[in-house]
Amino acid sequence: MAMLLQARRILTQTLPRCSSNSSPAFVKLLGLASRGLHDNVSRSKLFDPNATSGNVITCKAAVVRGPKQPFLMETIRVDPPTKMEVRIKILYTSICHTDLSAWKGENEAQRAYPRILGHEAVGLVESVGEGVTDLKAGDHVIPIFNGECGHCPYCTTKTTNLCQTYRVNPFKSVMENDGKCRFSTKDGEPIFHYLNTSTFTEYSVLDSACVVKIDPNAPLKKMSLLSCGVSTGVGAAWNAANVQAGSSVAIFGLGALGLAASEGARARGASKIIGVDINPGKFDKGKEMGMTHFVNPKDISKPVHQRIREMTGGGVDYSIECAGNVEVLREAFLSTHDGWGKTVVVGIYPTPKMLPLHPMELFDGRSISGTIFGDFKGKSQLPELAKACMNGVVNLDGFITHELPFEKINEAFELLGDGKALRCLLHV
Ligand code: NAD
Ligand code: ZN
Repeated sequence: MAMLLQARRILTQTLPRCSSNSSPAFVKLLGLASRGLHDNVSRSKLFDPNATSGNVITCKAAVVRGPKQPFLMETIRVDPPTKMEVRIKILYTSICHTDLSAWKGENEAQRAYPRILGHEAVGLVESVGEGVTDLKAGDHVIPIFNGECGHCPYCTTKTTNLCQTYRVNPFKSVMENDGKCRFSTKDGEPIFHYLNTSTFTEYSVLDSACVVKIDPNAPLKKMSLLSCGVSTGVGAAWNAANVQAGSSVAIFGLGALGLAASEGARARGASKIIGVDINPGKFDKGKEMGMTHFVNPKDISKPVHQRIREMTGGGVDYSIECAGNVEVLREAFLSTHDGWGKTVVVGIYPTPKMLPLHPMELFDGRSISGTIFGDFKGKSQLPELAKACMNGVVNLDGFITHELPFEKINEAFELLGDGKALRCLLHV
């Protein structure tokens, strides 16, 4: 590792700052341990941890200052990590629908500005705070919005992936240690954190419970998908629904989450995977990701659940809702077979509306549950999922539909909002 850091230091000092891909000589210098860096990481992204560790870093971040306000590229200050925290150089970040909802400020209680949003990314550890022993400078890492401390009553049971302290909390906007922000403007105004992660910045500080080390040979761009979208979708099929071979699945909402759920269902050997979306532009992707049938609610005059019951002789074994809409959720619930049908809620609902079910409907034997992060325990189980992806069990091709420079973040939000992108990868 010392050699690797030395190589990085020499390179950052001697090579011109440019955004071209790594040259073969450069890659050779970084050595085998960093094969993942072949993945188009420009030389300018590498840093010298000996120079930055323990110091405030001044860098660029996309800061949002109010609901639906355009992101402003600002120069910010990032404090060093304190006890059990990690500072990361973000290499790539992408946009998930949850960022879109937070940006719109759909849930008033979640509003806190100025703020750095973003939770899907991949990066390198720049430095670690006191007490962090499982991570070190140069490690390739994925931030996770649903952390795992590893020793609380929740982390020590297999039943849940919610950590007592570091579970997902959309209302939290400061660090756990001291209730303060590690980000500030040049004038010292604090900038709030988001979803345990805040990835729309060149450098971020996270609790080590929210940082997962991955194989340095893993392709970095694709690994960013495991930070949220693909892990959650695949886990919804594998862990929450526990899809069985030969079964039928209906997936509502064919964004990255729904398509990843399809990949998960396909990997489990589901024989019928029905995709439901009001945007038929998503159906080609659906086919690529294992879907066998499609329903566009706009094309039919009957409720979607009736159509799905007709297509499956009474209903699917599992339905997975990835649109974040209560009316859609009701259709998903009623699309499953009575007696055993299982509905998994993935979508995030900023609306104050309640679950659209009558309690007596549960006597028909249909069940419903929700999943955060696909029920994966991030720190302990994500490395295995990353391996499964690298071995082709889950195909990560096709999820990154666009790539843009970090500065074009507002364009990337539009692409997702307009239903044109699955994941737009920003080169930070
Ligand atoms: P996305 O915007 O890329 O995709 C949503 C899809 O739903 C789009 O294709 C859209 O056309 C479709 N849709 C919208 N209204 C519909 C309707 N009435 N009927 C059928 N389809 C409809 O979003 P994404 O990034 O894939 O995220 C999907 C959902 O998952 C969001 O609500 C997001 O906040 C949530 N999410 C949950 C978790 C979790 O841990 N539970 C994690 C990440 C994201
Ligand atoms: Zn997300």
